[in-house]
Amino acid sequence: MTIKIAIIGAGPSGCFVAQSLGKICPEAEITIVDRLPVPYGLVRYGVAPDHQGTKAVIRQFARLFERQGVTFTGNLCVGDDDLADLSFAELRGLFDAVVLATGLSEDRRLGLVGEEARGVYGSGAVTRFWNDHPSDQALAPEFGTRVVVVGNGNVALDVVRLLAKGTDDFNGSDFDPARVITSVTDIHIVGRSPAHMAKFDAVMVKELVKIDGLDVRLDGPLGQLQDDKRLLALQDTAAAASPDITQTVLTFHFGWAPEAFDIVDNCVRSITFRSQDGAMKTLPCDSVVTAIGFDDTRREFVGDGDGVIETGLYCAGWFKRGPRGTIPENRQDAQKVAQRIATDIAGIAVGNAKPGIAALQDRFGEQIVTYDDWLAIDSAEINAAAQGRCRGKLKSIDDMLKVVQKRRNAE
Ligand SMILES: Cc1cc2nc3c(=O)[nH]c(=O)nc-3n(C[C@H](O)[C@H](O)[C@H](O)COP(=O)(O)OP(=O)(O)OC[C@H]3O[C@@H](n4cnc5c(N)ncnc54)[C@H](O)[C@@H]3O)c2cc1C
Repeated sequence: MTIKIAIIGAGPSGCFVAQSLGKICPEAEITIVDRLPVPYGLVRYGVAPDHQGTKAVIRQFARLFERQGVTFTGNLCVGDDDLADLSFAELRGLFDAVVLATGLSEDRRLGLVGEEARGVYGSGAVTRFWNDHPSDQALAPEFGTRVVVVGNGNVALDVVRLLAKGTDDFNGSDFDPARVITSVTDIHIVGRSPAHMAKFDAVMVKELVKIDGLDVRLDGPLGQLQDDKRLLALQDTAAAASPDITQTVLTFHFGWAPEAFDIVDNCVRSITFRSQDGAMKTLPCDSVVTAIGFDDTRREFVGDGDGVIETGLYCAGWFKRGPRGTIPENRQDAQKVAQRIATDIAGIAVGNAKPGIAALQDRFGEQIVTYDDWLAIDSAEINAAAQGRCRGKLKSIDDMLKVVQKRRNAE
């Protein structure tokens, strides 16, 4: 009897779980289901368009579908809301084990009055818009000239970098040339923690300070520098600024917590911060991007450290651990989950055969986007690349499905 395992979510965690399961249980039939017609989750829709090296992990995941017998089942939404094609309970009825690797998508909110106003955006939504995610194309953010970015993690630095780079800096990326932001001249990045506790990585600072025409400033002394490469780089760059070639000024503020928005006619006009000793600072702005992580309070299932929700139902990745960790960090976690699934399925009674992928194919037929369909979308996007770009992503599910249909008609 073949064991049937469904993984919901074709992001890095779902792919890493499939990779590990493939090694531990080579006999198992593994299906990865995604609500989008395209795989790879935030590698495609979160990782910045100018970080193609990071996106290259896709080549490793592609081997799952090309050589390791894992089936991609795209364009199928699993869940209990109105958008779902089938419920978790239905899916569980078809497979011996189900893994939830659906990530997290709601931006965490500051919880301040005015957060809904025009000009206030969550970084998750903005980065999905920049990465052409079909669900976020209505966002069309307007940044104006002065932007405040709230947060001190790598995503905040991604946002700053993409706002600060000039048109020529995106060669080789898949950033839609029409999306390059040329209006911004003044960026403030504000973190709640003192400088030495900021979460961004040294490599991100290194990349940022290399941008031509970017004048990096600090709103005050950085405090404990010691051998912190990130802060030393910021300090050196701020000291060496040459204002005559400046196109954009970027100011770092450490130790300021957001306190209130000033909203006029439903548009943000400024944001006020409070320091630990009660001092206040107001930054006038045309837009605010909050980069303080993703909301993980609304997960309907919670697993233990091994990702077990209950026997037969597991979770992995950001859905399991919350919005923390890089792509490689999901691998180790996925290995633990896969190991636990392998142990549990060893106890499944012989003869208790579940239908697996065949039942999904019977029920959803043409709706399912296969891996070969995805390859057709992939080629269409590569062929549609604008000059200086490596890809021109399709921005709507309809356009993706048209490519799929064309491929099927040609067969
Ligand atoms: C803006 C941003 C930039 C980042 N940059 C980097 C970086 O440069 N380097 C790095 O190492 N890490 C980076 N990360 C972190 C990295 O993206 C995450 O560690 C990783 O993507 C988490 O993987 P995941 O599989 O848990 O979730 P996701 O990548 O979010 O994948 C979840 C998948 O589940 C699918 N799905 C969701 N709901 C359903 C449903 N109901 N039915 C079916 N499918 C569903 C989604 O379509 C998606 O494909 C970044 C994160 C963000 C937000």
